[in-house]
Amino acid sequence: MNMIFEKKLTIPMEVKMMYPLDEASGKYVEDGRRQIERIFTSEDDRLILIIGPCSADRDDSVLDYIGRLRGVQEKVKEKILIVPRIYTNKPRTTGDGYKGMLHQPNPEQKPDVFKGIVATRELHMRAIKETGFVCADEILYPENHRYFDDILGYVAVGARSVEDQQHRLTASGIEIPVGMKNPTSGDMSVMLNSITAAQHKHTFIYRGWEVHSQGNPLAHAIVRGFMRKGGQAQPNYHFESLKDLADAYLASGLANPSIIVDTNHSNSRKNPFEQPRIAKEVLQSRSYDSDLRKMVKGFMIESYIEDGRQNIGCGVYGKSITDACLGWEKSERLIYDIAEML
Ligand code: PEP
Ligand code: MN
Repeated sequence: MNMIFEKKLTIPMEVKMMYPLDEASGKYVEDGRRQIERIFTSEDDRLILIIGPCSADRDDSVLDYIGRLRGVQEKVKEKILIVPRIYTNKPRTTGDGYKGMLHQPNPEQKPDVFKGIVATRELHMRAIKETGFVCADEILYPENHRYFDDILGYVAVGARSVEDQQHRLTASGIEIPVGMKNPTSGDMSVMLNSITAAQHKHTFIYRGWEVHSQGNPLAHAIVRGFMRKGGQAQPNYHFESLKDLADAYLASGLANPSIIVDTNHSNSRKNPFEQPRIAKEVLQSRSYDSDLRKMVKGFMIESYIEDGRQNIGCGVYGKSITDACLGWEKSERLIYDIAEML
């Protein structure tokens, strides 16, 4: 093989012993997980908002942002459950560029994966301890999930990974809700197949072991828009798209049929300022149609302290270095507007 084996990484069990979750945080995780789960089983009809920056690039601004969400959560808790996004693994369209905290704990320095694992664990644990929120991340590299499986509340499989067998089988062995995104081609059958795979039991190889997964009845759909041939972004949050998906989903007989609408990415054509309009349109569709009201459980929103995005090295505090985000004031307004409409 043409690669250098740099170092053998400490196994997840040892990393968890080196950086354990304290007892109070463990209770937050248990409680947060129960609340999230109850939304996907329809025992709780509040709306879920998975909200936060496209990438968690640095601790100070991410924790500042999540601390602000805490205040808002208290005000809307009768209607909305907030799950902050702490996204530490970034898929890149061409493979180049910043791959997230897990690879580069400092975006301006060379990759160091072990440091990244520790930094990721510490950031998620600080969020729990300092704000009481249990957060969301993406499973971009299935084998790494084991380093974090005791501290996350929600995970997503991204648009570029959802057709991949190892992602699907790993999702089938995860005990928290896993959102399977539609692929960048927009083929909804790929997404529904991935949910089916994730809900079933499997025997497969994971981290060098033969393992048996139990199936994840909380695996569900995230619609994020798609790319047409020729490269134009097309939305899939309009009424007809959601209705077609809801019909196919119900016909499939899958457990806990649930849809999360990602308001950014190809749905917003990467214009984060469209997110409030998109969320409000979906709430309208939801109030018009009883299947959608039951199945559309919430939104995934890209939001941070500052509006927009910047290149790495520009150093603006709280401004995204990956996809452009909705800034704090607009985001706070949006959460209150959503609560008003419910
Ligand atoms: C994201 O959620 O930031 C992301 C990369 O999503 P997708 O997989 O839909 O492109
Ligand atoms: Mn993004």
